[in-house]
Amino acid sequence: MEKLTDISVIKGLMKKHGFEFSKSLGQNFLINPTVCPRIAEQGNAKSGFGVIEIGTGIGVLTCELAKGADKVVAIEIDKRLIPILEDTLSEFDNVKIINADIMETDLSKIIDEEFAGLDVAVCANLPYYITSPVIMKLLESRLRIKSVTVMVQKEAGRRLCAEMGTRDMGAVTVAVNYFSMPKILFDVSRGSFMPSPNVDSCVVRFDIKDKTPEGVEDERFFFKVARGAFSQRRKTLSNSVSSSLGIEKSIVTEAIEGSGLAINIRPEQLSMEELISFANILKDKLGSDE
Ligand code: SAM
Repeated sequence: MEKLTDISVIKGLMKKHGFEFSKSLGQNFLINPTVCPRIAEQGNAKSGFGVIEIGTGIGVLTCELAKGADKVVAIEIDKRLIPILEDTLSEFDNVKIINADIMETDLSKIIDEEFAGLDVAVCANLPYYITSPVIMKLLESRLRIKSVTVMVQKEAGRRLCAEMGTRDMGAVTVAVNYFSMPKILFDVSRGSFMPSPNVDSCVVRFDIKDKTPEGVEDERFFFKVARGAFSQRRKTLSNSVSSSLGIEKSIVTEAIEGSGLAINIRPEQLSMEELISFANILKDKLGSDE
């Protein structure tokens, strides 16, 4: 098969199928031949695994995933790419293409129906406009998956993989660390894509935890507090939580003190255990109607 990272091959396919890139769908296709084999290798595309790919483009990563994994289910929103994929993936009998929006797709059903008896991994060069919602969907749905390996904008990668208690963290960091062990795998320059975006990227992997942290009394409230705490990053924890969640400041302050924290602590200084303790105490103080 022709190399799908060759610009002349991509141009040829585009001409043959009358395809033009869609900026709004985040269509920047990989042309650096070293990147996809590395994502496949480090993303668990291996024997005994089924892989879900999100956003196939012309199938450059799909091919590498299909070479390693037992089965690949590839979800692509753009129906104009389906005839191209039927062309480029014709030599693989272990790939199923689904023309759908990932945000509307029942992944649990796909895992049950397509990956019985296999471990499951997710790999993707994500469309940047929905990076966070996709990652949150994958993590929060508690799917039967071992890992999520995705290409994201470099800055987003730093935030996603930030350690709790450091300046780079945000609400998404809390969720990522709650459900997984995050790791930056490698950087990818903007010149590795066609068309070239105006930012660099990196590949990150989230190894899904068997067990989420203990002691959270109400998960929904815990994440509401995390979002509230980081909605106004420059403020103290007490100011941001009371103003973003509309809770009287004295109640928030009492919960901070009750958790043994400094009254002027900032959200980015919190460890996971401290945030859990603060959310639990705040919840108790507010009573059962929250
Ligand atoms: N995997 C290919 C590669 O590495 O060259 C393409 C990556 S490109 C950055 C993102 C792909 O995701 C595009 O093909 C785009 O059409 C697709 N996409 C965008 N939004 C999507 C959505 N909501 N659901 C599924 N696919 C989507």
